[in-house]
Amino acid sequence: MHWPVHAFIGKGMSEMKRIRMLIGGDWIGGDGDEWLPVVNPSDGTQIAEIVNGTAEHVDAAVRAASEAFESPEWKAWKPHERGNLLIDLARHIREHAEEWAELECRDVGKPMSQARADAEAAARYFEFYGGAADKVMGDTIPIEDGLLNATVLEPMGVTAHIIPWNYPLQIIARSVGAALATGNAIVVKSAEDTPMTAHALAEWFAESPLPKGIYNHVTGLGSGAGAALSAHPGINQITFTGSVPTGISVMKSAAENVVPVTLELGGKSPNIVFADADEEKTLDGVVRAIIQNAGQTCSAGSRLLVQEDYKEEFLSKLKARFGELQVGRGVDDKDIGPILNKRQFDRIMERIEEAKAQGKLISGGHPVKVEGGEGGHYIAPTIIDGLDHDCPAAQEEIFGPVLSVFTFSDAEDAIRLANDTEYGLVAGVWTKDVDVAHTVASRVKAGQVFINNYGAGGGIQMPFGGYKKSGIGREKGFIALRNYVQVKNIAVKFGI
Ligand code: NAD
Repeated sequence: MHWPVHAFIGKGMSEMKRIRMLIGGDWIGGDGDEWLPVVNPSDGTQIAEIVNGTAEHVDAAVRAASEAFESPEWKAWKPHERGNLLIDLARHIREHAEEWAELECRDVGKPMSQARADAEAAARYFEFYGGAADKVMGDTIPIEDGLLNATVLEPMGVTAHIIPWNYPLQIIARSVGAALATGNAIVVKSAEDTPMTAHALAEWFAESPLPKGIYNHVTGLGSGAGAALSAHPGINQITFTGSVPTGISVMKSAAENVVPVTLELGGKSPNIVFADADEEKTLDGVVRAIIQNAGQTCSAGSRLLVQEDYKEEFLSKLKARFGELQVGRGVDDKDIGPILNKRQFDRIMERIEEAKAQGKLISGGHPVKVEGGEGGHYIAPTIIDGLDHDCPAAQEEIFGPVLSVFTFSDAEDAIRLANDTEYGLVAGVWTKDVDVAHTVASRVKAGQVFINNYGAGGGIQMPFGGYKKSGIGREKGFIALRNYVQVKNIAVKFGI
C-alpha cells in the first residue's frame, strides 16, 4: 500500500512554512494564534514558525484522540494492519531519506551524516515496531482444572509523547512506533525549537489511512502545551524525554491522574579506560561519544575516567585527536555542528569558564567562528583535566562538546567514580581483561554498559533507559511495548 509522496518532504524546503498542528485530522492554527519562530541553529535564519499551542488546543487533541481510540473504526484495525502502516512509514523515510535528513539537519543543526543516521534510525524504529505489532501476546496461567486463566494485553488508550529538541525524529519514532503498534491513540508534543520532522511525520500520518484523531501533533512551549498535556486527565500514559527538572514536574502531574510515566532523562556517562585497552579503538570511541550532535546527547560520554599510570599517554593522544576535529554548519557535514541557540551556548560557556578556573584546560574551551554560520553559535571540542569529582563539570550535564577527565587507580576505584553522580544512563568500559570488564559492567549503575565500544551502533533493539535520575522505565527493543499496554486477567470457569 502506498500513499502520495509526502507534501512537505516531497516539495522541497526552501520557502518558510507555517507549521500548523494536527488535531483530530484537521490542521489547526491561524491569525488568532500566537506564532513562535523556528530557527536554523547553523546560521540563525528563521525557517518556519509554529503555533504556540494552548491548554485549549491540548484539550481538543486529547479529546480527539480519546474519541478516535474508542471508535469502532479503530477497533476494527487488526494488529498486522497497524504494523503494515508503520512499515510503510519506514519505507517512506528510506525512499526520501535525504530529504528527512536535510530537514533534521536544518532544524537541529546537526551534521548531515548524523542527520542521515537519525533518519535511518527512525525508519528502523517504525520497521521494528511494525513487525512486532502482531507478536505482542499475553499468557495462559495454570490455576486448576475447569478454570482457564489468561492475560490479555490491551492498549493503554491515549498516550502522550513529549519530545526534546536534540533528536526529534528518532525520539518520536521510538515511542510512537511502540505505542501505535500496540493500538493506542497518540498526542505528540514536539520541542518548540525543533518541530520540523515532527510536523513532517504528522503530515504523513494525516495522509495515511489512519482514522482521524489517532495521531495528533501539538506544538508550543513546554510551560503551556507541554504542562497542559502532562496534566490532562484524558491521558492514559506519558512518555517524556527531556531534562530531569521537567521530568519531575511531568511525573508530579501524572501522579495527580494516577497515570504511568516512562521518563528518559539526562546523563553524565563515563568512559572508563584501563591501561591495557586497545588504544586506537578507545580513542575513536571516546571522541565519538562526546562530539556526536556537538555533545547535545543524553548518552554523551562526558566523563573520561582513565587509569592513572596511563593518563599522560592517553590524554596526549586524545588531545591530538581533538585538534583534528572540524567545526561547521550542518550542511558542511564536519565533525561538530552548532549549539542549539544562544541560551544553550551561554550555559555551556559558563560551565567551561568555571571548569577552566578550577582545573586545567587541555583542548578547546572557546567559541569558534564558522564561515557562513555567523548567526550560529559554535564551541571548540573541549577537554578539561584536574577537576574535583564533586564540581559541576563532573556532576552536571553540560550538554555540549565538553569532556572532563579524572583518574582511577584500579577497578574498585573506577566503579566508585563511575557511580558518583546522580545519573546512570550509559557507561563505556575499555579493557582487554574479561574479568575486569564484566566486574565493572555488573557494578556500574547504568541502563546500558558498552564494553570496548560505545553505543553498539545505536541498535534500536537494545533496551535503553536510566538508573537513578536518568529516568524510569525502558524504551527501545521489545521490552518498550510493555509501556503501552494494560494487563487484563480473565478467568473462565467451565465444566459439564
Ligand atoms: P526539556 O526538559 O527542556 O524539554 C523537553 C520537552 O518537554 C520539550 O518538548 C519541552 O517543551 C517540554 N516541556 C518543558 N517544560 C515542560 C513542562 N513543565 N511540562 C511538560 N513539558 C514540558 O529538555 P530539552 O532541553 O528539550 O532536552 C534536553 C534534555 O533531554 C537533556 O537533559 C537530555 O539529556 C535529555 N534527553 C534524554 C534522552 C533519553 O532518551 N534519555 C534523549 C534526549 C534528550
